Amino acid sequence: MGSILFRHVNLSDGRNGVDVLIDGDRIAAIGPGLAAPEGAELVQGDGLLLAPPFVDAHFHLDATLSYGLPRVNQSGTLLEGIALWGELKPQLAQEALVERALQYCDWAVARGLLAIRSHVDVCDERLLAVEALLHVRQKVRPYLDLQLVAFPQDGLLRSPKALANLKRALDLGVDVVGGIPHFERTMAEGAESVRLLCELAAERGLPVDMHCDESDDPLSRHIETLAFHTQRLGMQGRVTGSHLTSMHSMDNYYASKLIPLIAEAQVHAVANPLINITLQGRHDSYPKRRGMTRVPELMAAGVNVGFGHDCVMDPWYALGSADMLEVAQMGLHVAQMTSQAQMRACFDAVTVNSARILGLADYGIEVGRPADMVLLQASSPVEAIRLRATRLMVVRRGAVLSRTPPAIAHVQLPGRPETVDWALQRAAPPTRASR
Ligand SMILES: [Zn+2]
Repeated sequence: MGSILFRHVNLSDGRNGVDVLIDGDRIAAIGPGLAAPEGAELVQGDGLLLAPPFVDAHFHLDATLSYGLPRVNQSGTLLEGIALWGELKPQLAQEALVERALQYCDWAVARGLLAIRSHVDVCDERLLAVEALLHVRQKVRPYLDLQLVAFPQDGLLRSPKALANLKRALDLGVDVVGGIPHFERTMAEGAESVRLLCELAAERGLPVDMHCDESDDPLSRHIETLAFHTQRLGMQGRVTGSHLTSMHSMDNYYASKLIPLIAEAQVHAVANPLINITLQGRHDSYPKRRGMTRVPELMAAGVNVGFGHDCVMDPWYALGSADMLEVAQMGLHVAQMTSQAQMRACFDAVTVNSARILGLADYGIEVGRPADMVLLQASSPVEAIRLRATRLMVVRRGAVLSRTPPAIAHVQLPGRPETVDWALQRAAPPTRASR
């Protein structure tokens, strides 16, 4: 492994026109006009964006790329998706599951997505998916950080052996305690599942990440209980509420009490924009609710909010390609986060905020940190979202894992330029970014 010098790049935190030097697996220097060491690969950035890798705070690697198996979701609802997953589960073969997960990780790396928190269903006596994803976690370790959440899809208390299986999954090395309180039989059982799971996590010193209130029911308030137990057990900063879609439909007065409680308990929030906008509001006629949680309001209150992809080509969602910029773009639109600062915040939601949720140490482009980064065919985070920019280079621990040629159309129009790259203005064409 040698060294790479990026000349004149913009960083996603606003430092513009700097050089970044990678030496071995670390970032050796950041500053203007750095000298190129002997034999270094020189990359002329010309104002392109060099960002830390994308991070997906919420995914389901056990179900991904299974679209159409054993049939497609006709209604497109969350509940038919869960039923469909129940049909597929007994038919799952470990080898095929591993292969699909590995293929998705290939897609992820090529998109500069180098850290994923994946829930894994533990409501299967065989724990087949758990074993498969533990194997995948080991296999991808050199190029992708995979974190696994023990997820009782059929309900911790509703499904007879879920608690025992969840504990077995943790014993096998699954990293995070999951849950699904809104899917338990009653509100009281949902609250009880939150208490049990938080206590289990506290006992074992593990983080918590629950599917919480993924519902349009404004009275689904398990996030309140999750924040309460987080604080009671001293787990501030280690607990995440995923989805929180019921907050979209809640009474504003109650939300004004709830959001400060979430902030006080330092519970992280994850929205899954592509999935929330397609799965929620399904019982509505018109007007149809969007269903996504209150992202700008949570952020304004100081809550750390990440975005997840949640699903790609599985029982719940037929689309997707591991593109966290697509996720950020949908989040921006659904939440109407259109100011410059809010658009940048949507970029943070798929990078630095989600890295905090995963607890990734040493994340970010700083001297001395691991050389993990993505060179994008865009000049800023906002332009990256607008263009869903091409990942020109993906680097991990100083090694180039992926290169994609710049997106440039060659056009033949009378009296017009010969190429189009959709950039409003740039000092030089992006072709110079490749070596
Ligand atoms: Zn999920």
